[in-house]
Amino acid sequence: MWAEIGAKVMSNDAVVIIGAGQGGFQLAASLRSGGHTGPIDLVGAEFHLPYQRPPLSKEYLAGSMLADGLQLRGSTFFAEKRIRLHRADPVVAVDRRRSSVRMESGATLRYDHLVFATGARPRNLPVPGMNQRGVLSLRDIGDADKLAGLLGVPRRMVIVGGGFIGLELAAVARAGGHSVTVVEALDRTLARAVSPELSSHLETVHAERGTQLLLGRSVSALHGRSGRVAEVELDGGVRVPADVVVAGIGIVPNVELAAEAGLTVANGIVVDERLLTPDDRVSAIGDCACFPSSHARDRIVRLESVQNAVDQARFVAARILGSNQPRYDSVPWFWSHQFDVKIQMAGLPALDDRRMVLGDPGTGRFSVLRFDDGLLTCVESVGNPADHMAARKILGSGDTPTLESASQPGFTLKAFAKRGAEACAA
Ligand code: FAD
Repeated sequence: MWAEIGAKVMSNDAVVIIGAGQGGFQLAASLRSGGHTGPIDLVGAEFHLPYQRPPLSKEYLAGSMLADGLQLRGSTFFAEKRIRLHRADPVVAVDRRRSSVRMESGATLRYDHLVFATGARPRNLPVPGMNQRGVLSLRDIGDADKLAGLLGVPRRMVIVGGGFIGLELAAVARAGGHSVTVVEALDRTLARAVSPELSSHLETVHAERGTQLLLGRSVSALHGRSGRVAEVELDGGVRVPADVVVAGIGIVPNVELAAEAGLTVANGIVVDERLLTPDDRVSAIGDCACFPSSHARDRIVRLESVQNAVDQARFVAARILGSNQPRYDSVPWFWSHQFDVKIQMAGLPALDDRRMVLGDPGTGRFSVLRFDDGLLTCVESVGNPADHMAARKILGSGDTPTLESASQPGFTLKAFAKRGAEACAA
């Protein structure tokens, strides 16, 4: 139920949020700041106060950020905002007929709106020898603490998977003086996420810093001594010595609870353009949700980024508070830091795109523009925040340059974005 009081919308519905991570936290906070007066239960599986994950593979692992710096808010925030935070008490069942959830402790909560913000977990490396000491993945504070403990003395580290987390980890470990090998099954790093031009640039950066990149190679087994990993066996039988092995081969969305509750799941909990499941009292946001994106010609996508979790949370909060916005269409963006290289991406690439490069990768400052059917859909920027911000504006405006116009001498994203802004103002 909601009612308009003056300009402010007041809703006293009971909202239960499953998952107290980036998206769940933001939803609770946005509901309160938007005027929600009803109960908000934020139910988390972890003991920690809600925290941000990006520093786990960057500053926190490197030791330049402490645990306090990870927290999204201190404990007083939740009391002040009357957000009931349930820690280390995961939801184990959802009863949509009774509109209630049951937690591991046996407690039940009734809802008017239920939001899945359950995130994802690391994909297991399906090879023999995974369950030995020294083998881990990186998703939560506990993983990062374990890894930091292992990296307290010089180590030979093998990272399986040349994705963002693997490469960020490689950068921190190399900077800390460890020997690092990255094994990637495809023929380039970040193959599913970025252009060949950006992959190639990052591979050069990592190789120059002393990381060994083994591309087009897969891991077939892990061998150990006395229960501790000692070697990584690759296809063809070659063995790479290792004291620490990190599996960074992607994540699996936490959808089981939703599936058991009779909701549709595919590569995520399936929601529509308003982030609603077919049950109009149940939504899903963040890493666990897949939705039709206007930035991908309505293809169903599942995005793994802070921006996506936060913006989807804000959208759902506004909807619960009575907004009639027809669809979630925030421009997707993402960042990654590897050594001193700052990568920023805006938009989504098409599967079979055309590309052009603005600037010179040799200078460490450039952008890759990616086009779908002649229109700009994605910009990857390295060391160029101005291009990134301009790209976000352009992609959000719907007025995007064509490959032809962007290829004209003197073209810059900044000038194009300014032109669009001036046209709007006129
Ligand atoms: P999460 O933040 O993962 O929160 C989900 C929460 O739900 C978890 O705490 C989980 O324990 C809980 N949960 C699951 N099941 C239940 C249940 N049944 N009951 C209760 N609670 C449950 N993104 C970027 O944009 N830039 C980066 O540089 C970047 N770096 C990253 C580095 C690392 C190491 C990692 C792991 C992620 C990184 N990300 C980055 C991704 C980003 O952190 C995620 O996309 C974001 O956290 C997604 O938010 P979420 O709320 O969907 O999921």
